[in-house]
Amino acid sequence: MSRLLSQSWGRLPRLATSAPTFRPLGVRFASEVKDQDIRKKYSATLLLPKTDMPLRAKNAPATEDKYRHRTTDELYREQYATNEGPVFILHDGPPYANGNLHMGHALNKILKDMINRYNVIRGRKVHYIPGWDCHGLPIEHKALAALGKSHTSLDPVSVRREARKFALEAIDVQKAEMKQLGVMADWDNPDGVYRTLDHDYEIRQLKMLQMMVSKGFITHRLRPTYYSPSSRTALAEAELEYTDLKSNSVYVRFPVSEEWMTPRLKEAFQKGREVSPEATLSLAIWTTTPWTLPANMGVSVHNEIAYVVVLDNAKRLLVVAEELLEPLQERFGKLQVIDRLDGKHLIGTKYRTLFHTGDPESLPAIFAADYVTSESGTGLVHSAPGHGHDDYDAFQDQNIPMDDLRCPVDDEGHFTNEIVQWSGNQAFSALVGKYVLGAGSKLMIEQLEGAGVLLAEEKIEHRYPIDWRTKKPIIIRATPQWFCDVGSLKPSAVEAIENIKFVPPNELTPGRNRLSATVLSRSEWCISRQRSWGVPIPALFNSNGEPLLTVESLEHIISVLREKGIDHWWAGSDDEFVPASHKGQVLTKGLDTLDVWFDSGTSWSLIADAHLRSESEPLADVYLEGSDQHRGWFQSSILIRLAALEKDGHKPMAPYRNLITHGFTTDEKGNKMSKSLGNGISPMDVVNGKKGRDAFGSDTLRLWAAGTDYTRDASIGPSSISHAAEVLRKLRSTLRFMLANTANATPLPLEEAGLTLVERYILHELSTLEQVVREAYEDFTFNKVLQGVTSFTSSTLSSFYFDVAKDALYCDPINGPRRQAIIATQSHVLNAVLKMIAPIVPHLAEEVYESTRSNHHKSSVFLEQWAKGESWIDKEAADEMAVLLAVRGEVLSMLETARQDKHVRVPTETAVYLASSPTMESLLKRHATLLPSILGVSIVKLTAPPPSTWSVTGESESVSITLAPAPAHQCPRCWLYTAPAEAELCQRCDMALGDSPTPM
Ligand SMILES: [Zn+2]
Repeated sequence: MSRLLSQSWGRLPRLATSAPTFRPLGVRFASEVKDQDIRKKYSATLLLPKTDMPLRAKNAPATEDKYRHRTTDELYREQYATNEGPVFILHDGPPYANGNLHMGHALNKILKDMINRYNVIRGRKVHYIPGWDCHGLPIEHKALAALGKSHTSLDPVSVRREARKFALEAIDVQKAEMKQLGVMADWDNPDGVYRTLDHDYEIRQLKMLQMMVSKGFITHRLRPTYYSPSSRTALAEAELEYTDLKSNSVYVRFPVSEEWMTPRLKEAFQKGREVSPEATLSLAIWTTTPWTLPANMGVSVHNEIAYVVVLDNAKRLLVVAEELLEPLQERFGKLQVIDRLDGKHLIGTKYRTLFHTGDPESLPAIFAADYVTSESGTGLVHSAPGHGHDDYDAFQDQNIPMDDLRCPVDDEGHFTNEIVQWSGNQAFSALVGKYVLGAGSKLMIEQLEGAGVLLAEEKIEHRYPIDWRTKKPIIIRATPQWFCDVGSLKPSAVEAIENIKFVPPNELTPGRNRLSATVLSRSEWCISRQRSWGVPIPALFNSNGEPLLTVESLEHIISVLREKGIDHWWAGSDDEFVPASHKGQVLTKGLDTLDVWFDSGTSWSLIADAHLRSESEPLADVYLEGSDQHRGWFQSSILIRLAALEKDGHKPMAPYRNLITHGFTTDEKGNKMSKSLGNGISPMDVVNGKKGRDAFGSDTLRLWAAGTDYTRDASIGPSSISHAAEVLRKLRSTLRFMLANTANATPLPLEEAGLTLVERYILHELSTLEQVVREAYEDFTFNKVLQGVTSFTSSTLSSFYFDVAKDALYCDPINGPRRQAIIATQSHVLNAVLKMIAPIVPHLAEEVYESTRSNHHKSSVFLEQWAKGESWIDKEAADEMAVLLAVRGEVLSMLETARQDKHVRVPTETAVYLASSPTMESLLKRHATLLPSILGVSIVKLTAPPPSTWSVTGESESVSITLAPAPAHQCPRCWLYTAPAEAELCQRCDMALGDSPTPM
């Protein structure tokens, strides 16, 4: 027996079927074989499928590797050079160059790649430049940790050298992994990728900063930051830990003069005076950080909370929240309520603190804030925007000027002399130079007490942030920072966001609302970071700390850095950077670097500089990232783009036409993958296998990605991976079957192939599918592509068409008309399905395509363009076939009955007799020769059944059906019961052998 026969071609791909699994052909029972020698003789004359492509890829990663370069690097270059369609631009959001790829990266890159590949195969010229985000704190930390150094013990140039090395190594690892996922790009061409650490990228970014300076977006002012006195640096939120800490909290009063009171408060005050003529009125506040009192710039109350004016035992009038009266009496003693008023009646009242004694115009005032509650303290909140983010935001929301933001604390966490200047009180010079969290705090409380404004003091234990390295408490302290003032961009942002197409659409997941909310809630963007690993903000400072950052200064500095490299900002002398207009002045370089969101937020300028789009269109067709990027890259990109377009007479436009978001990857229980849970699956472990686990190859992972509804969280685990592997296996088997039937033939053009109803129906179904698949790709709904294709290949092809076609394919004369029609159809279907699935499983598609290569001349299946060819939509064929399929369904179930009743062992032992109305009869007559293969029996007659030993009857589509024994003998070649006598060939086989020599 030949090698081919031993591969059991009879086991055709069958994915899912609702029909009874009665196999008309190909199941060969040993008991049937009466004459093994005759069978053997004829079996060699059958035209069985033939291909070198293995049924299973034994080593998936190695098999894929053979096609990798052709379908990634080479393909990218080739399509860009030769595709003539319009340019399609998917702009890559750069992953952080830090560690191996995780499953979220894999999902992201595969989704992008499917979109790109679909556009390539549609003949468009795809522009895709993968990027890496290379600067910032996490890389700086990892690089220094690897060296066992801290950033204070290395000079900036050395820190940058180490961080750069670390980032470049991470990029190499990630790049190799992305290639393994089959992501198409010109990976090894320096212009084929972008890295935010590249010299050209950095220079372009500085030009963007210059553009924003020229339009007045960039300013310099104080802002609160987490600050660690113990390591003398500002910290990011990620660098904080929390611990329980004991602190001294204080109740303090801020006196209010009668002339500063609102009319309503004055009324209450006068009522108090009636009770106690000498009484003064004060606001009572509570704070756990008494050292922040010199920085007080306001007191906030809630408009709707009820407040009371009370008289204490010391004959002082105090304002507190009504609800807190009881707990406060425990601390202050008996409080007599004089009057009751709402928070809104207090707004605007000015007051004095020990550190506000000057001009009444400059005194702080009460303002309203929604975050105020009456749960603790006094219901009046001491507000020091120089030492608190919420306070700062509240001041900003209300446009309260912060030009003179108070922050009398130096780099070491010591009080500065400003507290003496503000108070005009020399007694406070004792505080100057004292550590605010230590001696300074204790002394401050003594001063409050001495001045008679301390109402009460108590120890409390609370969660307090500490420096993750030194484990010492941190403070919040205003430091000078650079800002991008984006508030003025809000109107253009509204217009630009309106024109973006969101995927998923806003009705399902409110992407538009989310992006609007993040963009519109922001008036300032702090773009400075106090680290060395980044693009410098090349400002120069005079001895008063006043910055110089102008279009002109930047022009000069950029020209120096362009020539000498960005590191030169740290290595070069100050003088070298002083522009001509300021020569002779003593100016010092600033050491801040730009926020990494500014780095990646300028990446669209790469496309702008490539001049691929007219000015009236968005630069990129697609931005596709995780849904957390509304706050990140989507936002920074749109803001910088709008700033660039602003004031130049351009229509506001986002840099992207379609904004696609995907969810997170989770395990199969829906838990987000995380290191601490230990439930993470590495994409490369799925691809390459790990510790005895199978290596599934990247097509399996890609097929999983295509099958997810990525707009929600996508779960992955052993069962979803094996499901994807099974779908891939069946797809491979289906494609291989068509390949093996057609690869060695010369298919006729479909128009000349004498298509029967069955082929017309298959082509109709294929054309319908093609339309669905195209639309799904255009809508980025890959799961619909996959569903459509697998349902077609399993139900329409494997369970129906392959069964029906097999007899003619194997047994008809080699050039028989029916066989030719089938080969032409299968060849067409194979090529069409190959294009539909190629974007999802490119390695498999290339492998199949290579085996069909004799008819083709392209280096990749993706260069075989999927043009909108002739449609084979054939409504008539579909309607007629629907009738015959219904009859087939009924016959298959009747055959099962006959088998169970032991009338037959195999369906071919039967003949079917059909009787029907004249209309139906004409249909049956027209397709009479097809009926045995469609119904899976040896003989079909449109006559009444003759008397027989057994029969089974049924009905469908008003056709009455009778099954009875086939009135003929089994042909030893095709095994149908169509031969005139025992051991003789049937007429068809006789003809077939006449066409080709009998192998004896
Ligand atoms: Zn035969």
